[in-house]
Amino acid sequence: MAERKQIRLLDDTVINKIAAGEVVERPASVVKELVENALDAGATRIDVAIVEGGRQLIAVEDNGCGMTRDDALLSVERHATSKIRDIHDVENVMSMGFRGEALAAIPSVSRFTLRSRVAEEPGGTEVIVEGGRMVDVRDAGCPPGTAVEVRNLFYNVPARRKFLRSIQTETVHIRQLFLMYALAFPEVGMSLTLDGRPDYQLTAGLEMDERLHQLFDRSLVQSLRPVSLRQGDVAVRGYAASPACHRSDRNSQYIFINRRPASAALVGYAIQQSYESLLPKGRYPVVILFLDLPPDRVDVNVHPAKKEVRFRTPQEVRDVIIAGLTAALLQRAPVAPAAAAPIPEQKPETLTVGTLLKAASRPLPAERRTPTFPYPRLGPDPVSSGKPPAAPAQPHIPRREELPPWAEPPQASKSPWGAFRLLGVVGTKYLVIETSDGMVLLDPQAAHERLLFERLIHGYERKKMESQGLLAPETVQLTPAEANAVKKNIELLESMGFGISEFGSDTFLVDALPACFGELSAHTLLRDMAADVERSGTSRGGGRWSVEAVARAACRTAVHSKMNLTEPEMKRLVQDLASADMPYTCPHGRPTVIFMSFNEMDRKFGKK
Ligand code: ADP
Ligand code: MG
Repeated sequence: MAERKQIRLLDDTVINKIAAGEVVERPASVVKELVENALDAGATRIDVAIVEGGRQLIAVEDNGCGMTRDDALLSVERHATSKIRDIHDVENVMSMGFRGEALAAIPSVSRFTLRSRVAEEPGGTEVIVEGGRMVDVRDAGCPPGTAVEVRNLFYNVPARRKFLRSIQTETVHIRQLFLMYALAFPEVGMSLTLDGRPDYQLTAGLEMDERLHQLFDRSLVQSLRPVSLRQGDVAVRGYAASPACHRSDRNSQYIFINRRPASAALVGYAIQQSYESLLPKGRYPVVILFLDLPPDRVDVNVHPAKKEVRFRTPQEVRDVIIAGLTAALLQRAPVAPAAAAPIPEQKPETLTVGTLLKAASRPLPAERRTPTFPYPRLGPDPVSSGKPPAAPAQPHIPRREELPPWAEPPQASKSPWGAFRLLGVVGTKYLVIETSDGMVLLDPQAAHERLLFERLIHGYERKKMESQGLLAPETVQLTPAEANAVKKNIELLESMGFGISEFGSDTFLVDALPACFGELSAHTLLRDMAADVERSGTSRGGGRWSVEAVARAACRTAVHSKMNLTEPEMKRLVQDLASADMPYTCPHGRPTVIFMSFNEMDRKFGKK
């Protein structure tokens, strides 16, 4: 039997080291805690310096409120915080920190120096802690604000040190984190220095759009559409990139909850659902989303680093995100909202293609300014501004005479391209188009599918589905499962323009099709539709087919059977696609167009 051991209270240094395991996972966590403290201190300037991915040194300096000597000494104690007083405050906390742990935990696993001064006093204080032991406290000459240096992280916790990844990996984590705060606080000047080299240098007092331009490349910024919706107490704002820019993981989804970088599984699902029919499988959209809700509706105290949060009313949050994103995606031209984005008040409604299409045409109500949280505007987007082409860039290469003339934009200001010129066909199937911003490769099949899909849905919504009688009505024999699905949905099919009736067991008579399909085998169409709809599931329609699913399947079949376009037809297709609601993907999520901007070409040719 094991020897009985006495219970004893742990030493503070031991407790801090254990706690450090939760708060300080890696160098980026130290950066996070220190930057948050600087923000909580009201800093307008935060400078971060990193050496060797943070293993050697992490230094964060701010010009915030600073600390008196007493406070500086207290700050490195466990559970010492100025941000809350009792448990009720936790429910309403708006500051980044409140647990009072970081400045106790970090010094317990590093060599730590803190220098701080309040503006009213002539001098400041320096506190040095090594491995949790206070080594020195002295007067220090320093500017108002606080500077923290963390050296040799985990030097006294070999197990942890071993888990540190390569300098490069740790640096990526730090940069990603820095980016999050830089996004959330465009008004704060921030810099990041890596091994003595400046990485980011962001000026203070910026609007969000200016900061976006500093942080991301131009083509991404141009594809962003503002998101702005409030339903009840929950508001979602930010930007959604066009479905054409997708990524292989969620790293380009910047989520903030009450302005804290944070996440919740629910948010990820909601984003994915909003882009569902617009993205290829396994791809993720780029979004920058700020969710704002009363602090008592979200529990940030689930995770020591406050990374994961829990919502009191998850359903509501989910609905707002989906409605907000969908409306944003349907605003074709990235609209430039003024400094504060408009927050339309709207009752939650069930989302169907119908409501989405309606949302697109609904004018956005007047703006409302939230002084504590401005969402500055994005500049106009030349990609979709529908401008005629700009003068050719230098050096001037004469265009060949025989190139076709520019076609006029269909509806200026709405489309992904304005004027365009059809250059030809490559690989016997893709159209090559020149626009004012670059070159577009277009897949006519995907484009055609998108257009048919929208025509079917629009016709259905407006109850103006035109139907065209078949010269020779066809009888179609289905499997029992397929037949059953068709039977349950005969009404829906009829309202979409199908003339269809039961004709004995598992057999149907089709005598009309939606007019937009043209000539088509009813036989193939019905069978493919039944199979496709069955495969893709009927969950959304609650056992019934949904309009979308039927339309999607129908379009696929229709398009597969015809694809020999004349030149006028091609032009028409390009024009029509430009004015589609969602021009960038087919209803199954494959891209309709691949775009290469002149900028990108210049870069690839080494001219930039
Ligand atoms: P928390 O942020 O959860 O309160 P910390 O351990 O991170 O806990 O910090 C403890 C306290 O030290 C804070 O509540 C704050 O009063 C003070 N403090 C920390 N960093 C700074 C800073 N950069 N400027 C001013 N005060 C700071
Ligand atoms: Mg803190």
